[in-house]
Amino acid sequence: MTITQLPKDAARGATDDYLRSRWDDDIAARMDPVERLIYRSNLLGADARITNTGGGNTSSKIAAKDPITGDPVRVLWVKGSGGDLRTATRANFASLYLDQVLGLRDAYARYPQRGAKTPAEDAMVDMYPYTTFGRNPTVSSIDTPLHAFVPNAHVDHMHPVAVIALATAEDGPRLTQEIYGGDVIWTAWQRPGFELGLELERIVRDCPNAKGAILGQHGLINWADGDRECYELTLDLIRRAHEFLDACPNSAPDFGGARVKPVDSAKRDRVLVELLPWLRGKVSAEKRQIATVETRDEVVEFVSSVDAPRLAEVGTSCPDHFLRTKIKPLYVDWNPQRDGVDALRAKLDAGLDKYRSDYAAYYAACKRHDSPPIRLSWPSVILIPGVGMVAFGKSKSESRVTAEFYNAAIGVMRGAERASRYRALDRQEAFDIEYWLLEEAKLKRMPPERALDRQVVVDVGAGSGIGRALVSRLVAEGATVAAVDRNGESAIATASAVEAKVGAGIGVAGTGVSGAGPVIGLQADMTDRDSVRAMLDSITLAYGGVDHVVVTAGYYPNPNEQGEVADAEWAKAFAINVTGPYVVADEAYRIWKAQGLNGSLVITTSVNAVVPKAGSFAYDTSKAAANHLVRELAVAFAPLVRVNGIAPATVLEGSSMFPRERVLASLAKYGLPHDTAESTEALRDRLAQFYAQRTLTGEPVTLESQVQAIALFLTDHFSKTTGAIINIDGGLSAAFLR
Ligand SMILES: [Zn+2]
Repeated sequence: MTITQLPKDAARGATDDYLRSRWDDDIAARMDPVERLIYRSNLLGADARITNTGGGNTSSKIAAKDPITGDPVRVLWVKGSGGDLRTATRANFASLYLDQVLGLRDAYARYPQRGAKTPAEDAMVDMYPYTTFGRNPTVSSIDTPLHAFVPNAHVDHMHPVAVIALATAEDGPRLTQEIYGGDVIWTAWQRPGFELGLELERIVRDCPNAKGAILGQHGLINWADGDRECYELTLDLIRRAHEFLDACPNSAPDFGGARVKPVDSAKRDRVLVELLPWLRGKVSAEKRQIATVETRDEVVEFVSSVDAPRLAEVGTSCPDHFLRTKIKPLYVDWNPQRDGVDALRAKLDAGLDKYRSDYAAYYAACKRHDSPPIRLSWPSVILIPGVGMVAFGKSKSESRVTAEFYNAAIGVMRGAERASRYRALDRQEAFDIEYWLLEEAKLKRMPPERALDRQVVVDVGAGSGIGRALVSRLVAEGATVAAVDRNGESAIATASAVEAKVGAGIGVAGTGVSGAGPVIGLQADMTDRDSVRAMLDSITLAYGGVDHVVVTAGYYPNPNEQGEVADAEWAKAFAINVTGPYVVADEAYRIWKAQGLNGSLVITTSVNAVVPKAGSFAYDTSKAAANHLVRELAVAFAPLVRVNGIAPATVLEGSSMFPRERVLASLAKYGLPHDTAESTEALRDRLAQFYAQRTLTGEPVTLESQVQAIALFLTDHFSKTTGAIINIDGGLSAAFLR
């Protein structure tokens, strides 16, 4: 393996490829200087090996005209706080009067007590807004002085895997000298801030030939007078580190070789399916988490290695990494060839306890008088020998990025251990970053959580009608959703349409981390237990478990021309409307039990369950059974899972149960006009209006009204309600439950 985790024989080509300049002068020539900075940033951010998601920053010092005086001024455009370089736009860049930022050195010098981590240093962060050029609301990052105090026009600060390997190597200073000569200068770890900016200013003054610096335990920063030159210098400096580490004579295999053999993919999935709901339940004790499983060869090689226990305990280094991965992952000492899943669970149980007490001890040992209170002490990365890594986060994209970061950390350790010995950041320094008041302020600025954040919802029947409309609604409320349908293509179409709207979340392209976004589309036949089980297994592997299940799928058996329902149609109505929801519930209950977290189930029934109608008795009878299924399951699943029903009256909008012929037949039945040349939509609309005027509210029954009710049932608003059926029918007195 090369340190960036590519097959050895592909190393040269692949290295050249990810570090190949993608700069196009024709494109750049059409851009203004700020657009060129954004262009450069997007190019650099496109590969996780160059910088991690949300990590690193770039800047340009650009001449402008002061809007008031008309005088020429120098403006520092620098990537602000938050956002990702890969997708950065102008809105991600702060713009500051450079001379005013430089003037802050005088303000800083007036503080009697200065230095890293002093109140004086943090006070400078509050000064940046006063130097804003052009009413730009973007918040400056704490890295701003790293860019301001380097005199060159363009500065890139990246977190490249290959360079962090040097930055975390025990003899990093010597390696830096050996690889770069005087081109790159070593600086010992220092928390990003004003002092580090001043240190870089000193380096540039003392070493006028230097093009960059390695920030110990952290990353790379380099500078140039041209923007293309700066971009290509960044690539070149990473390449030199990469090639050096790849060429390191490794007489011993990486990570001391294998301690256990990796398991095959079938066994791996079995282990994970059995383990994950339980594990998710444990780490979700205070707040629910969504999982990402990572089983790439490089990860499995690491977790199965001799050195994994030692290196896992050492922890991660780059501040960006450990803010997500926590100071260390949880490694479980398990031998898949010798021990079963029960043993794994027992070891994990003990491991989690130990992890939490270690974390509490770390907090107690390192806390300062004004430190924020201790945060959740569950691990966010769990390493299982032979199997891979499980990462947890508050959303799918969060856990996926955490997995990406630990992946990068594995690359870092591989490189550092090849060239020297890997060293993590000092624990007190790590603590001072993790519990930095500025970091706490950033967390406090996060938007409040939505009603279904952290929740996994399975929507069976998502290919059309209520089920399809429900997916967008759930995602908008924060849910992570599995869109399931008997018609797999329509399930995938629903999932893709929603994902295209909301995006797959941060950190997808270029990270190489496998796994889904906030929505997946899956095929399953809910009348077939094996198919349902396979579907739930896929969801478990994608997200770690399940919180809510909604069954919106239904079947309306069409009578023949004489108004009779064939036996097979009768059976099909019961299979889909009653047996299906039962099988789904029964299989999901295994997951709910293993998780031990409260959940809920909503089954869509129908007002027809209590309103007999000529010609639809197969449908009506099956829905009556579905109503009672709700009540039976509510009793059976209490107190863990609430079970409720939604009983819609005819929803025509987008329903697969109302094909054109059925709409025409109904219009004919009620003596309403039905010109066969009219569009299906217009015909449906007329029928819906007709139904509406028969209701107590006079309102047509829309998809949105169903979807809203279902989503509410899943939330805490209904935490005291189970076994209930709510009609969403515009008000039909004949359908009142008695
Ligand atoms: Zn950084």
